[in-house]
Formats: sequence, C-alpha cells, structure tokens
Amino acid sequence: MSVDLDEEEVFEDVRDRVDDPMRRLFAKYGRENAFEFVVGLISSIAARVLDLIPPLLLSIAVDAIFLDNTEYSLWLVPDAWLPTSTTAQLWLTVAIIAGAFLLGAAFHWTRNWGWNSFAQSIQHDVRTDTYDKMQRLNMEFFADKQTGELMSILSNDVNRLERFLNDGMNSFFRLSIMVVAIAVILVNTNWQLALVALGVVPLIAVFTKKFIDVIQPKYADVRSSVGQLNSRLENNLGGIQVIKAANTEGFESDRVDDVSEDYFDANWDAIDTRIKFFPGLRLLSGIGFVITFVIGGLWVVGEPLGPLSGELQAGEFVLFILLTQRFIWPMAQFGQIINMYQRAHASSERIFGLMDTPSRIREEPDADPLVVDEGEVGFDDVSFGYDAGKAQSASGASSGDDDPRDYIVEDVTFDVDGGDTVALVGPTGAGKSTVMKLLLRMYDVDEGAIRIDGTDLRDATIPSLRQTLGYVSQETFLFYGTVQENIEYGTFDADHEEVVEAAKMAEAHQFIQNLPEGYDTKVGERGVKLSGGQRQRIALARAILKDPDILVLDEATSDVDTETEMLIQRSLDKLTADRTTFAIAHRLSTIKDADKIVVLEDGQIVERGSHDDLLAEDGLYAKLWAVQAGEVDELPEEFVERAARRRAQTEATDDD
Ligand code: ADP
Repeated sequence: MSVDLDEEEVFEDVRDRVDDPMRRLFAKYGRENAFEFVVGLISSIAARVLDLIPPLLLSIAVDAIFLDNTEYSLWLVPDAWLPTSTTAQLWLTVAIIAGAFLLGAAFHWTRNWGWNSFAQSIQHDVRTDTYDKMQRLNMEFFADKQTGELMSILSNDVNRLERFLNDGMNSFFRLSIMVVAIAVILVNTNWQLALVALGVVPLIAVFTKKFIDVIQPKYADVRSSVGQLNSRLENNLGGIQVIKAANTEGFESDRVDDVSEDYFDANWDAIDTRIKFFPGLRLLSGIGFVITFVIGGLWVVGEPLGPLSGELQAGEFVLFILLTQRFIWPMAQFGQIINMYQRAHASSERIFGLMDTPSRIREEPDADPLVVDEGEVGFDDVSFGYDAGKAQSASGASSGDDDPRDYIVEDVTFDVDGGDTVALVGPTGAGKSTVMKLLLRMYDVDEGAIRIDGTDLRDATIPSLRQTLGYVSQETFLFYGTVQENIEYGTFDADHEEVVEAAKMAEAHQFIQNLPEGYDTKVGERGVKLSGGQRQRIALARAILKDPDILVLDEATSDVDTETEMLIQRSLDKLTADRTTFAIAHRLSTIKDADKIVVLEDGQIVERGSHDDLLAEDGLYAKLWAVQAGEVDELPEEFVERAARRRAQTEATDDD
C-alpha cells in the first residue's frame, strides 16, 4: 500500500488549463528583467566568440609564421593594416590572444551576472506571487491539498525554474553559438574535411535522444520514490510519540527500510543508464576524432584519400583537431538542456495552475468597504454545505439509510441587535463553527444572506469585513516570534502598554511575566512551548487589542481551567457589554447571561430565547444544562442515540 506522491501528478486538474506556460512565464516575468537577459545573452555570444580566437590564431600562426606556408592574414582585417615582419606578426598574434583572454574573462563575468540576476529575480517574483495568490485561495483549497504538495510547488518547482533559467538558458545560448561558430569556421577552412569531422554529429544526436528516452521514465521513478520516502519520514517524525508509546520502532524501521530500498533501486536503475551514456559518447567522439586525424593527417603529408582534392595546411589540421573536440560535448549537453526545459515546463505548468485556481469567494468589482454603525447582524434563511456532492456520497456510503443531506447549515435565520451577545449552543457537529465561518466569509453561503447593519457581506470588501470582526477560535495558532508580536499580530501599531492592557484583560499578563523573557519570550513552533490554555489567552488578548466591532468567540476559553475562565469571563463581560458578540461554548455556565441563545441541532435552529426561556421550554438546551449542572446523571436514551447517529455521520464526512 503506497501513497502516490508523484510530483508530476499533483495539480493534474489545473494543469490541463494552462496553455504554453513557458511563454507566459517570459511574457509576465521576463519583460521585467529584460536588461539582465540582454546582458546575459550578449555576453554569452561575446564570450564564446572570444573563446574561439586563440585556436583560430594558433592555426594561422602555424601556417603563416612557423611553417611559412601561407600569407599572414586575419579575418575581417585588411591585409594592408598587418605588419610584414614575422616577429611583428608573432607579437600581434600573441597580443590578440592575450586581449581575447582578458576580454573573454570580463564577458564571462557579465554573462554570469546577467543570467544569475535574471534567474534569481524571476525565482523571487514567481515565489512571492505564487505565495500571495495561494494564501488568498478559499479554505476548501487548503482542505483538499496537502501542505506537502503546496510546499513542493513553492520550493521545488520554483527552484527548478531557476535552474533552467540560469544554467539551462545560459548553456543553451553558449552551446548554440559555439556549435554554429565552429561549424562556420570548419566549413570555411576546409569544407571537405568539415564533412568528415562533423559526420559523427548525427550519430551523437541519435544516441543522445535514445538516452533521454530511456532515462526520463527512470528519473520519474526516482522522483516518485523519493516522494514516498519523504512522506514516510515526515509522517513518522510527526508521530514519534505514538511510535514510542506503541513500541513500534522496529516495525517503523522496517517500513522505512522498504521505501528506502525502493528509492535505492530506482536510483540505481537511473545511475546504471547514466554511467553508460558518457563512455558511449566518448567512444563515438573518439571514433570521429580518429577518422578526422587519419584522413586529415594523410592529407597534410600530401596523400589525400579518395575524392578529396586541394591542399590541407598543417595549421588548418591543428584547428580541426582542436575544434572538433569542442564540438562534440555541446551536442551531448543539449540533451541535458532539453531535460531541464521539460522539467521547467512541467514546473511552470504547476505554478500557473495554482495561480489560475479560481476563488469561489470573489469580491464584487463594485464592493464598498463595510461601514459598521450599530453592529446589527442578520442571518436570513442561510443554507450552506462544504461540498454538497462529497457530503452526499460520504454519508450515503456509510449508512445508506440516512437521509443524504447536502447542507451542513440549513435555513438558519436569526437577528442580533447591535451590542448584544448571542450564544450558539448545540452538540458537536451541529454546525456552530460553520455558522461563524460564514460570518467571517471564509466560505460563501449557498442560499440566503448574511447582513451586517443591513449590508450583504458579499457587497462589502473582504479586508474591511475581516477588519470589523475579531475571531478567537478553539484552534489557536501562534506564529514563531515573541509573545508581544503574537498579541500585536494584525494590529501591528499598538504600543507596549496597550499590549499589556489587552493581556491583562485576557488573564494572560501573569503567566507572560513568568516566562523567561516576559513579553519578549519567543513562542510558536521553534519557541517556548505554551499550554493550550495559555495559547488561548494570547489569542484572546490579540482579539481584545484589535478592538473589533463584532467579536466572535468560538470555544475561546475551552482549554482554560475553570478558575481562570471565571476571571476571563469578568473581563469579557466588560469587553462585550456594548459590542455585538457571538459566543460558542460547551460550558453553558459561561453563556447563560447572553441576550439570546440559539440552539442548533443538525445544522438547524431548534430553539431560541434567553436562558430562562429555554429552561422553561424543557427542550435540548434544558437537557444539556441539566447534565452540566449535575442535576441529572445521564442524558435521556433517545438523546444519546441521536448523538451516536450524528457522530457516525460526521466521521463518514471526515473520512472522505
Ligand atoms: P460544531 O462547531 O457545531 O461542532 P462544525 O460547524 O465544526 O460543528 O461542523 C459541522 C459539520 O461540518 C460537521 O459534520 C463537520 O464534519 C463538517 N465540517 C466542518 N468543517 C468542514 C470542512 N472544512 N470540510 C467539510 N466538512 C466540514
């Protein structure tokens, strides 16, 4: 049983829609870095041409100066400008060669500067743009995709692009120029011998193509097995506590051994092919070299073979020997470049696929910033399902007799007056958090509308809406940074006194002061570990500091001990007195003074009213209250059965 993690298949769904990703990449990002590109390109050409000058001049020197077979003459230079004495000609040759080396070095530098800056800037721009786009995607997207897949796009794919833009393009231009220039020089020098010397080129091209065809599927296997290995390691490190507690170290070592072995095999298969390729290439080029040497050598000593006619000078022969060697390797490297291009192509498809992912939550073009006056909130016949099709098939598959529902929240209607506190109560999975997420517009309602002071949320800009709301949930996340930074998060311009004030109201000041460095103590993933209750109090302080018009407390104090909760409650009473507040709490004692209590069950409102009203009604709320207050030991049987049914349904949805 293995998880298919082949990177190529990630985001398959969006890749189909991306046309010509490389052209898009250049059109979007290349233009902004055109200067670097041009510098790289021109320097590549210049550096290569300068590289060819020394062998060319050596050939001329051999014939015209050392052997005195021909006239001293240079390409593109009128003969009248050239010196006539042999020594002067030698000095001129040496001077040009030295100049070529010097200038060549300068161009090598500008070439690398150009290509590296080009690739690095594009890499940076693509990564930040992709990240920016990604974090604005809907919550559904994050529920569907694994964090590992997204990380792989932001790091591996972007790095692969950089590698192609730097090494790949640099080599491509360098080699193309080299091949064309050498071919021109050879044909110009002696076209007949050029035909002989270049005769192996088609063979090398075919050989290289064959190699690529064979090695590519092998590389795909390597990537797939490294993906499996990584996910196994990641999974095991994350679950180390379970492994230790279950005493399964041996079992896990065996599993890692298995996937590592698969990786070894796949890798070895690829290595085996690769290490045969280069000796093969050397052999082919060696054959070409020997043939050129034999035919050229015989020609120089005055015995041209077969149909060959004319003369071949020793210097020209030397030029052939020097240049054909330089010609062979570029041909082989083209294979590598094609490979890099294909990988970059696949990576940019994934990157643009991500960028093209449509958002289900869209801001209307004419949306206005939300202006909150009273802070009235109205839910008007609201229905919503996370993924209608999915929920249906999951619940249908698990129990069959259950009514397959699309909606997690159905026909929810209630109003909250400005400044009031409303509590949402109900069993786990009833949809309380979902109702709050709809208010935050993490998701859009499928039917009905939610209004704040009469404005439909969909007509307001998203940042203004989120600014209006303060949200503290059960799942508190702290960023790596100091306590102070975590409290300021989202407000940013608060001063230390305000932060301390907020922390005091959240009953967090005391424990923060006892941390090693107080408010400057680093917390979060690599920092000091805090308990769930402490994290919640920091999150609460963050919301208090933000001073929002509307406060949403979703089990905001669930991890806090009862005593601290009582203290926080006192502060919260002050905080929520004139502020519209939504509170979800399991401990009903904390919400019994709410202006309104809305009881949800299976996504629908089943009761509403004040604490006293609901007790008098003797329904679900009254039963929950009785259990929590210790007035009854057990819930009525039918209630327990209902809870079990609901649990089964919830788990079926979660398993999907
Ligand atoms: P509550 O807050 O009352 O415990 P929730 O609103 O968290 O209930 O959940 C209501 C139902 O929605 C549950 O069945 C839960 O499994 C489902 N659910 C919650 N979040 C998601 C999600 N992101 N995707 C799909 N289903 C979800």
